[in-house]
Amino acid sequence: MQVATGRSILNGIAIGPLRIYQKKETQTAQTSTLTPAEELERFESARLAAQKQLGGLYDKALEEVGEENAAIFEIHQMMLDDDDYLDAVKNIIETQSATAEYAVTTTGENFSATFAAMDDAYMQARSVDVKDISGRVVNILTGQGDKDLLGEEAAILVADDLTPSETVQLDKSKLLGFITRHGSSNSHTAILARTMNIPALIGVDFNDSWDGKLAVLDGYNHCVYVEPAAELLAAMEEKRKEDLKQEALLQGLKKKPNVTLDGKEIKVYANIGNVGDVGLVLQNDAQGIGLFRSEFIYLDSKDFPSEDAQFAIYKRVAETMAGKKVIIRTLDIGADKQADYFGLDKEENPALGYRAIRICLTRREIFKTQLRAILRASAFGTISIMFPMIISVREVRDAKDVLEECRKELLAQGTAVGEVEIGIMIETPAAVMMAEELAEEVQFFSLGTNDLTQYTLAIDRQNPKLDAFYDPHHPAVLRMIRHAVEAGHRHGCWVGICGELGADATLTETFLRMGVDELSVSPPAVLPLRKVIRGLDLSKPSHKIL
Ligand code: PEP
Ligand code: MG
Repeated sequence: MQVATGRSILNGIAIGPLRIYQKKETQTAQTSTLTPAEELERFESARLAAQKQLGGLYDKALEEVGEENAAIFEIHQMMLDDDDYLDAVKNIIETQSATAEYAVTTTGENFSATFAAMDDAYMQARSVDVKDISGRVVNILTGQGDKDLLGEEAAILVADDLTPSETVQLDKSKLLGFITRHGSSNSHTAILARTMNIPALIGVDFNDSWDGKLAVLDGYNHCVYVEPAAELLAAMEEKRKEDLKQEALLQGLKKKPNVTLDGKEIKVYANIGNVGDVGLVLQNDAQGIGLFRSEFIYLDSKDFPSEDAQFAIYKRVAETMAGKKVIIRTLDIGADKQADYFGLDKEENPALGYRAIRICLTRREIFKTQLRAILRASAFGTISIMFPMIISVREVRDAKDVLEECRKELLAQGTAVGEVEIGIMIETPAAVMMAEELAEEVQFFSLGTNDLTQYTLAIDRQNPKLDAFYDPHHPAVLRMIRHAVEAGHRHGCWVGICGELGADATLTETFLRMGVDELSVSPPAVLPLRKVIRGLDLSKPSHKIL
C-alpha cells in the first residue's frame, strides 16, 4: 500500500480504480521517409476517417443536444472538404517532403492564425475549429483516439491539472473523485468538485505506476491510499456507508424552514454551473438558485453559444425551478475560465485583466446575445440578472442600458419578456467602497467572497502556494461584508453571499447577526447549512467580534 497526501477540497471518501490522464503534446516528425504520394495517401485515408468520426459525433449530438448544437460537427466536416485547406496540406507534403502529420499541423496553425486576424466574428471563431479538425486528423495519423478522460469504467481521475472546461466536460456518472498535482483550493475546478459533491485532493505527488490500481481517496484525512490493505479498505467502506447514512438523515430536513431557534429566517439558495446541476438543487431542497455561473455554458461549447441555444438552457432552468428565484450571473469569462474561441490575449495579471463585465461592455454583440436569451427566458419563470466584477456606477448604468436596449428590441419584435430583478456581485474592494451609490442602481447585492478575498488581501486565488495565506476569515474581508450589507440595506437592497464562504458553518451566526438575507452555496451544502441555522439562537449574547 502506498499513501500520498494532498489538500482536500471536499470531505468525503471515494473508492475505485485510479485513471491517470496525461495531456500529451504530439511530437511530429517533419521530414518523411515515405514518398510524397504515399504521404498523400496516408493523409487522404486519415481525412476520410475523421469525416466518419465527425458524422458519428453529429448524430450523437443531434440526439442529445439538438440540431443547432450539433451543427458544429457539420461545419467541421465541410472544413475538411475545403479546397484551400486541402491544397495547403498537399503543397507542404509535396514541396517539403513532409510527413502528413507535419503538413496537417502546420496548415492548421497557419489557417488558425489567418482566421483569428480577420475582422469578422464568424471567421474568428473558425480559428479554433480549424485547429480542432487538424488535431483530429493528426490523432488518427498518429494512432491516438479521441480524448476520453475517463474511459469505460467509473474511476478516480488523476491529472497534473484540470481546467474548468475539462472539468465541466467530464462524464459525472463515471467520476468517483479526482486527484491533481497542481491547482488551488479556491479555483473554479475546486468549486466544481464541491458542486458535484465529488471528493477531490489537490497537491498530490502521484506517479504513473498508479494507473489502474485500486485506491481510496480519503478527503477527511487529505490523503490517498493506493492498493489499500484489506483492513483499511473495509474500514473506509464502512465510513463511506456512514456518510451515506448521514446524507440520508439530512434529507429529513427537506421542506423545513431555514429559521433559527429564536425565529430569524434566512434564505438558502444553491449555486449551479449548468442545467445538469438543477437536479441537485431540487434534491437538496434549495429555495432558489442564487448564482448560475453562466460562463460554464460558454466553456462547455466549441463556439459562441447562440441566443437560441442559451435561451433553451435558461428557459429549462426557469421552468424546472417553477417560479422559485433563478439568479443568472452574466458571462464571467477570463482569468482561469478560458475558452479559446474568445481569442483572448495572454495577460500578465489575468485576475486583474480583461474579464467578465469588461469583456461584455466592450464586445457588446456577445453581451446582447446573452441578455436577449435571458430576457426571453424570463417569461417562463422568476429570473434575476446579476453583473459580475463591478467596480463603478458607470459600468452598472452601461450594463443596464444594454439590457434596456435588448428589452426594447424584443418587445418591438413581439417577444414576451418577464420582470427581472437586477443585481450586482460585490467582489471587489471598489464595489464595497461604492456600495451606497451602487445600491441606488440595483435591487440586490450578492457578495462574491472568493474574489473579494483575493482582491482585498492581494492574494491570487489560483496560486496553491498562497493557500495558507488566503484567509477569508481575515477581519478586513468580514468588515467589507458587513459594510456592504449595511450600505445595501440602507438603500433598499437585499444582500446575499454566493462565494464559498457562505457555506462556512463557523460564520453562519456572524452572517445572520450582520443581517445577511441570503446564502447561496453548492447544492450539497444546502441541508448541512439548514441544520446549522436551525440550531442557532441569536437571542443569546454573542462572543464573536469582528
Ligand atoms: C466569487 O468570486 O465569490 C464568486 C462567487 O464568483 P466566482 O467564484 O465564480 O469568481
Ligand atoms: Mg468571482
